[in-house]
Amino acid sequence: MIDGWAAEAVARLDREREDAGPTPLRDFPLPEAWGVRLRLKDESAQPTGGLKHRLARALFAQAIASGRITEGTTVVDATGGPMAVAEAYFARLLGLPYIAVMPKKSSGAGVERLGGTCRYVDPPLAVYEQAARLSEEIGGHHLDHYRSAAEVDWRGASLADELFGQVGDCPRWIVAGAGTGATSAAIGRLLRARGLRGRLAVADPENSAYFPGWATGAPDYATGMPSRIEGVGRPRMEPAFDSAVVDLVVPVPDAASVAAARHVRQVTGLAVGAATGTNLWAALELITRMRDRGERGEVVGVIGDAGERHLATCHDDAWAAARGLDWRPYAERLRDLLGEP
Ligand SMILES: *Cc1c(COP(=O)(O)O)cnc(C)c1O
Repeated sequence: MIDGWAAEAVARLDREREDAGPTPLRDFPLPEAWGVRLRLKDESAQPTGGLKHRLARALFAQAIASGRITEGTTVVDATGGPMAVAEAYFARLLGLPYIAVMPKKSSGAGVERLGGTCRYVDPPLAVYEQAARLSEEIGGHHLDHYRSAAEVDWRGASLADELFGQVGDCPRWIVAGAGTGATSAAIGRLLRARGLRGRLAVADPENSAYFPGWATGAPDYATGMPSRIEGVGRPRMEPAFDSAVVDLVVPVPDAASVAAARHVRQVTGLAVGAATGTNLWAALELITRMRDRGERGEVVGVIGDAGERHLATCHDDAWAAARGLDWRPYAERLRDLLGEP
C-alpha cells in the first residue's frame, strides 16, 4: 500500500510537472527555397535546464511507487553531469538527502547549490561500484539511472509523448541524442506504436559505441572511450538504447558539434551545450539530403540543455583548443550553408 508520505510525494512530482508545462518547439530558420522546416524541442526550458529533468522525475516517481524510496531515504547515484543536478533538484523537492558519486575532476557545484552532497572518486570508472557500495552501507536507494532508464515508466511525460502532442503532422525525421538512450527509445517506440511514417535518427559523437553498435547489430559493442560531448555518446551500448527502433545513426565529428552549438547560440541566444550542436549537425545532414532530392516536410531536433556554465565549455575558445577541437572549418561550412547567423 502506498503510504501518506509516498502519496504526497507523487502528487508533488505531478504538480511540479504541471507547473513546468511542456517545453516549447522553436523554429530554426532555414533558406525558404528548400521547402524544409526545422523545429527544435527546447529542453533548456526545463527547471534544471535540460532533458535529464524528465528522466529524473520519472525515476523518482517509479522508485517511490515501488517502495524503494520512502520518507527519509538517502538517494545515491553515480553521475557528475546534468543528471546529478536534476536528481538533486527532485531530492530537494521531496525533502530527501542526495549523494552524487562522481569522478574526481568533475564539478559538483550544481549539486551542492541544490543541497546535495558530492563524493569524488578516482579512477572515474570506480563511480558505479562506489555508488552501489555506499547506498548499501547507508541503507539508501541507488537510482542507477543508466540501468533503470531501460525500464523507465514515463507516465506519459516522455519527450516523445509531449512532442507528438505539439507537432501536428508527423515530421519526416526526428533527431535525438543518446546518452542513456531512453529519449530515443521513447520516440522510436511511439512512432511505431502509432504507425507513423516519421523516422528516428540518433546523432552520435566521436568515441561512442552507439554508431558502430547499431551499424553492426552488436548489442554489447564497446569502445571503452569516453565521449567529449557532455550528455551524449557512451563507451558501451547502454541497456536503455533500443537499436531496433532507430532508423539511422549519424556519426558527428566533435569539432562539428562545437561549431554547430556556437551557431545555435548565435541564432537563438541560448548558451546550449555541445550535444545540441551534435543534434543540429545531424539534422542539417538529413535536411540537405531532403533538399537535394526535392523532398519537402519537417525535421524536428532537440536542444538538450543550455546554461551559463556552457560559456566555459563549447563556447570558450580555450576549452575547445585544450581538446584539440578545430571547430572553425565546420563553422565556415555552416555559414556557407545557412548564411551569417
Ligand atoms: C542525456 C542527454 C541527452 C540524451 O538523452 P538520453 O535520454 O539519456 O539518451 C541528450 N542531450 C543532453 C544535453 C543530455 O544531457
